[in-house]
Amino acid sequence: MVDSMAIDADWQSIINEIGQEIQPYQSAGKVADYIPELENVKKEAFGMSVVFIDGREFSFGDSDVNFSVQSISKVYSLTKAFSFLKDELWKRVGKEPSGNPFNSLIQLEHENGKPRNPFINAGAIVVADCVVSNANQPLNDTIDFVREISGNKNIAINEDMFLSEKHFGHRNAALAHFMKSYGNIESDVEAVLNYYFGHCSLSMNCRDVAQSFLFLANHGRHPYNNQEYLTASQAKRMNSLLLTCGTYDAAGDFAFRVGMPGKSGVGGGIAAIIPGLLSICVWSPGLDKYGNSLAGAKALELFTTKTGISIF
Ligand code: GLN
Repeated sequence: MVDSMAIDADWQSIINEIGQEIQPYQSAGKVADYIPELENVKKEAFGMSVVFIDGREFSFGDSDVNFSVQSISKVYSLTKAFSFLKDELWKRVGKEPSGNPFNSLIQLEHENGKPRNPFINAGAIVVADCVVSNANQPLNDTIDFVREISGNKNIAINEDMFLSEKHFGHRNAALAHFMKSYGNIESDVEAVLNYYFGHCSLSMNCRDVAQSFLFLANHGRHPYNNQEYLTASQAKRMNSLLLTCGTYDAAGDFAFRVGMPGKSGVGGGIAAIIPGLLSICVWSPGLDKYGNSLAGAKALELFTTKTGISIF
């Protein structure tokens, strides 16, 4: 809930306070190494950006350092897929939390190749297939879209990250081939994986990511350029999925502690929103055992605790 006192809070002081209190958490957690290139990062880094629908912006720490957005980008591909497939998509991917790790294969066999939700890897690969099967230039269109919503024309894929993901992405390749065997992947598997690894390898900073999520805090319309990227109904659905599935099998704990719909990535970023008010991105590469940034989740918990605002 948002009250007017909270809106006029001294945001920069609150964010600075969080930046101080978060220090003990910055060396905790483990940097992801199953994609070798992800290890090339300073574990203790911490950045935070808060951007408001009304145009105000506040940042702290390493907020202008680029990092690998990884699964945060599943929100961008799902936004693209919504525009192509609308409700057809839900015949091929579910809407329930998985309760399993984000890259699990087990559930997929029991459920006949239909992934639980669009934010686990299998679901995002089906979403990737929808984009690849429908867009003229799938990856370029998505990069242009991300540049537009973040207001940063220089956003690009980190090629080393892309190649690292491609060379070591055997589990994702297995998921894609497995789903193809059930008829749930239409396009060529390699083209689908190239698109998926491509958007996961986007390199952005906290400010870019926070701004790119602002349309989700504003019923699908970006307040900075007035473009409608999702209908109000689609934005509601996206935010509901973010709350229930956006932080993998820790989504319940994240909702309990933070109280915001959010999406994390194994690069250590987490983006979250408060509808009608703001979006936030935090980044710190040390992850908890579920693959979510440890200091990042703590910083968001501190944010909603100190300000008294959340979606509830
Ligand atoms: N590219 C990563 C993968 O496929 C994304 C995972 C994540 O951020 N959770 O494993």
